[in-house]
Amino acid sequence: MRKALITGVTGQDGSYLAEFLLEKGYEVYGLRRRTSTPNYENVQHIKDKIKWISGDLIDLASLIEAVRISNPDEVYNLAAQSFVAASWPQPLATGQFTAIAVTNMLEAVRIMKPEARFYQASSSEMFGKVVETPQKETTPFYPRSPYGVAKLYGHWITVNYRESFNMFACSGILFNHESPRRGLEFVTRKVTDGVARIKLGLQNELRMGNLDSLRDWGFAGDYVKAMWLMLQQEEPDDYVISTGEMHTVKELLEVAFSYVGLDYREYVVIDPEFVRPAEVDLLLGDCSKAKEKLGWELEVGFKELIQMMVDEDLKRVKLQMKNIEAIIPV
Ligand code: NDP
Repeated sequence: MRKALITGVTGQDGSYLAEFLLEKGYEVYGLRRRTSTPNYENVQHIKDKIKWISGDLIDLASLIEAVRISNPDEVYNLAAQSFVAASWPQPLATGQFTAIAVTNMLEAVRIMKPEARFYQASSSEMFGKVVETPQKETTPFYPRSPYGVAKLYGHWITVNYRESFNMFACSGILFNHESPRRGLEFVTRKVTDGVARIKLGLQNELRMGNLDSLRDWGFAGDYVKAMWLMLQQEEPDDYVISTGEMHTVKELLEVAFSYVGLDYREYVVIDPEFVRPAEVDLLLGDCSKAKEKLGWELEVGFKELIQMMVDEDLKRVKLQMKNIEAIIPV
């Protein structure tokens, strides 16, 4: 039985990847950090199948111990401070969790199990300012946020460990990917959750930033397959994973609101608080290398993805309302 260690397993991607690897018959170890209130929402359905190890990205000793206990064939380093907007008010924490922590994880693997295959969750935010469109593996990087800068460090240190220590280390440069398990502060989920609340009468406006930003949005369930495929190749390499399609935030609003029969223009309020200090105007990925070498294919399209998210948010918000009514009868 093959063994995988996943950091960030309670997050969006970690939960889909854990499901995928369990289905493939892997023994899955998940690193979880201590929090005063543990959050297993994304992994509740597979919680008993994951072997849990306590640890924190910035505590090297705990990572060494995690690799020793799991003795993994594959390590997926997904944990990070993953929210771009939070990286301006917390640039140092972002540097610790999203940049330096990658070296911690690589060191833990190098010391305990150097032959394990390593996946690093890199990001299209490393491209930032447009130098070339669409962006591919050879496009020069120009990050525009402390998050993008930190991810760039993580990317290059992964490449460096591959070249310095001959480790099987891959960096997946993933464009935005979403799902009903996306964090509530991310723009897609903020919109689908907002639509559900407006439709159910709990909210009457949605405060947004730049509606003209262009993004390449895919489905997280499709993207985790690409992570696994990268670690099944003969040689380690870096790959862009994207849909190759761009949509504006305005289109996202149109699809989500019209799905429940509403017009977004009646509810959306532009709020400067949600405009980034330095904007990434256009992200569009060229994933032809991944298609050709990994045989990776997308299954879920943009409209289907957003509608799936609205459906799930409607279900979740309705359930919350029912639970509240049960406690406080109206
Ligand atoms: P999430 O924010 O959903 O998950 C992040 C995970 O990291 C959570 O499990 C969180 O744990 C964990 N974590 C954060 N800090 C620590 C720490 N100090 N020690 C241990 N664990 C920690 O992110 P996604 O699943 O969306 O993304 C996965 C990775 O891919 C991230 O690195 C992200 O930056 C990167 N990425 C994501 C993209 C996307 O569009 N989703 C695009 C490109 C890259 P907890 O539950 O305790 O908070």
